[in-house]
Amino acid sequence: MQDAIIRKLQNGTEFLWVNDHKCRYRPDFYPALSMEDILDAQDRLQRFAPLLERLFPETKKTNGIIESALTPIDRMKQALNDKFHANIAGALYLKQDNALAVSGSVKARGGFYEVLYYTEQLAKHHHLLQEGEEYSHLADKRCRDVFGQYTIQVGSTGNLGMSIGMMSAALGYRVIVHMSSDAKLWKKQLLRDKGVTVIEYATDYSEAVNQGRRESAKDPMSYFVDDENSKQLFLGYSVAALRLRKQMAEQNITVDAEHPLFVYIPCGIGGAPGGITFGLKQLFGEHVHCFFAEPSEAACMLLGMATGLNSDISVQDIGLSGLTDADGLAVGRPSSFVGTVMKPILSGIFSVNDATLYDYLRCLWDSEAIFVEPSACAGFQGVVNIHGNDARAYLENNAVADNMHNATHIVWSTGGDLVPEVMRKEYLALR
Ligand SMILES: *Cc1c(COP(=O)(O)O)cnc(C)c1O
Repeated sequence: MQDAIIRKLQNGTEFLWVNDHKCRYRPDFYPALSMEDILDAQDRLQRFAPLLERLFPETKKTNGIIESALTPIDRMKQALNDKFHANIAGALYLKQDNALAVSGSVKARGGFYEVLYYTEQLAKHHHLLQEGEEYSHLADKRCRDVFGQYTIQVGSTGNLGMSIGMMSAALGYRVIVHMSSDAKLWKKQLLRDKGVTVIEYATDYSEAVNQGRRESAKDPMSYFVDDENSKQLFLGYSVAALRLRKQMAEQNITVDAEHPLFVYIPCGIGGAPGGITFGLKQLFGEHVHCFFAEPSEAACMLLGMATGLNSDISVQDIGLSGLTDADGLAVGRPSSFVGTVMKPILSGIFSVNDATLYDYLRCLWDSEAIFVEPSACAGFQGVVNIHGNDARAYLENNAVADNMHNATHIVWSTGGDLVPEVMRKEYLALR
């Protein structure tokens, strides 16, 4: 079985891996994390909202809360049915993290949250926060001067560095981003323009993370955002579930046994889709079916979970390059923490080729005039293939095969708003 999966990955076949370890849902399936932790993260973001309003005036209209729209995309549904034979019978929505304020990607959730979490601790340590006081004064010079003594470091393929870099720089920290070879030039430039130190590596993501972790450990005034293991990043992402539930209620979207919810989320190291999935399962239990999507050449979470080896295996170990135009997903070795949390709850993972991502990218542009980056298109692979052969047994085993006409499908669009105009044109022209 595992050999067959590895062969499919080696052949570059697009397929669905169904997670046989998924169990009947229990809220306490992973006792170290709970609903309380998600609510705590949500409260923290609320406490920081006045500060964000002050730092980023574009967040004024949402009172300092950074959230994306849930957009019905009927024309895209039609186009997927016509051009990709998707047979989507239910409703199709796009969760538009491509348009999240300030950093234009899903990383604004976890990345911002972790910087704010650290800032709260530091501010308390330096007596910059009194009980009951609101947080906007943390942008005052005397506070910035304190934060300026500290360095925040992170390894990134691009978007995490942009989120951590922008938030940290805005608060006054020194920031060092360790960029893997996949990172796009414009992402590095944008950070340098904000005063962030960008160190480039000729190696892949895991190496950039290792280097960052080593460098940070040498400096007692440095904090490392650890994409492979961070609980804070994970919880920052999980808050999305609470926000989404509210948006779904506002749009009268029902989720129950007769009305299943399918969510398709692009996956790199696993933190973002893992955190979102963790939150959604807490809220919707058995009725939500969460799938990840990964580029065929960098399907590290699929490989790690299917073999049970998690981070003890990399895509390079089976002869894949790890190279993909989906730079946000260009990760060769998955987070073992996320793989462990996902084992009993994740429905499965779709692999998708780069050429297909561009097909979806253009299709979304042509049908809805929404531009997203290649990584952000991976989720469409899920909704296009959920009615196909690979998924048939899953739908039957989960008693949803007869309810697909009532289903809600949410494709999580994870990045794109900051892509420069010249790059957009290039992406849209590629065939
Ligand atoms: C990082 C990223 C993801 C995936 O998040 P991970 O935590 O790496 O799994 C998806 N889409 C985009 C655009 C990203 O930048």
